Amino acid sequence: ERMVSGEIHNEELSDEFSLRPQSLSQYIGQSTVKENLQVFIEAATMREESLDHVLLYGPPGLGKTTLAMIIANEMGVQLRTTSGPAVERPGDLAAILTALEPGDVLFIDEIHRLPRAVEEVLYPAMEDFFLDIVIGKGPSARSVKLDLPPFTLVGATTRAGMLSAPLRDRFGVMSRLEYYTEEELREIVLRTAEVLDVEIHQEASVEVARRSRGTPRIANRLLRRIRDFAQVKGDGSISSSITNEALDLLQVDKLGLDEIDHKLLRAMMDRFRGGPVGLDTIAATVGEESHTIEDVYEPYLLQIGFLQRTPRGRIATPSAYHHFQVEVPR
Ligand code: ADP
Repeated sequence: ERMVSGEIHNEELSDEFSLRPQSLSQYIGQSTVKENLQVFIEAATMREESLDHVLLYGPPGLGKTTLAMIIANEMGVQLRTTSGPAVERPGDLAAILTALEPGDVLFIDEIHRLPRAVEEVLYPAMEDFFLDIVIGKGPSARSVKLDLPPFTLVGATTRAGMLSAPLRDRFGVMSRLEYYTEEELREIVLRTAEVLDVEIHQEASVEVARRSRGTPRIANRLLRRIRDFAQVKGDGSISSSITNEALDLLQVDKLGLDEIDHKLLRAMMDRFRGGPVGLDTIAATVGEESHTIEDVYEPYLLQIGFLQRTPRGRIATPSAYHHFQVEVPR
C-alpha cells in the first residue's frame, strides 16, 4: 500500500471514525460545496422535505464519505452506507431501499460501479420514490411495484465521467471536491493532533500539510506515522526535526512525492527528454497499466504542474526538472 495514496488502508478502518468531523462547521475547506449544502439543507428542513439527491465527485481521500455522514447528521436522519460493487443484483438494492426510514440518507460509494440492471431500479426510486422490480424467473416471474419512503441518495465517485447520463441527470446537486490548500491541511493536521491527543509544533504542522498532496486522508496518515516516531525516538511531541526524519525514512519527499512518482518523472526526463510521451509508452516504461497511471499517479502531478497533457502526449514541465535539480533540455 502506498504511503501517499488517497485510498484508505486496512489498518485505518478501525480509527477512521474518530477522526471525521461531525458537522459542516467542523468540516474544513471546500467552502463552495459547504455553502451550497448549507442552503439546501436549511431549505429542505424548512419545507420538511428530504434533501435533493447529491453527487460528490473528486479524488479519493478528500472527504466525500465524511460529507455524506455530515449531511445525515445535519438533516437529523440516519445514514445507510453501501458501495457500487457491493450491490450486485436488483434485489440487493430493493432490500436496502425498503428498509429506509423517511428522510434517510443512502450513501453509495463508487457509484459508477453499480451494475446496469441495478442502476435501472434506482432511476424510478430516485425520481418518484417507487420500486419496480421483477421477482423470480421464467413463467413464475412477476413484476412488483412498491412505494418507498422519500430519501436522499448521496453518491460518491472518483470518476464523474464514468457515470451514465441518466443516472447523472437524477442528481439535483452535483459537487466537485477540490484538493485542499496547504493552510486548510494545516488546520486539519492540528485538529487531528488534538483528537489523537498529541502535541505538535507549528512548523511541523506546516511540513506535514505541505507533504500531504492536498489530501486530508494522507495528512492524517502521515501524522499517525510521525506520532510513532515521536514516541519511540523523541519525547512524544511532534517537532519539525522528528517530522523531517520520519518522512524521509518513509520516502515521502518535500512535496509529498514518493518513489513511484520519482520513477515516472525520471523516466520521462531521462529517457524521453521530458516528452511529449504517449500514455501507453510511459505505462510500458514504468511497468504499470495505462489507466492506473491516468487515475492514480497522474492527477496529483498534473495538479502541482509537474506534468502537462498535450495532444501529442505527456510533458514533464520545467518545475519537475527543478524539483530534481536537473537542467531543462533545450
Ligand atoms: P473520501 O470518501 O473522499 O475517500 P473520506 O470522507 O473518507 O474521503 O475522508 C478521508 C479522511 O480525511 C477522513 O478520516 C476524514 O477524517 C478526513 N477529512 C476529509 N475531509 C475533511 C475535512 N474537510 N476536514 C477534516 N477532516 C477531513
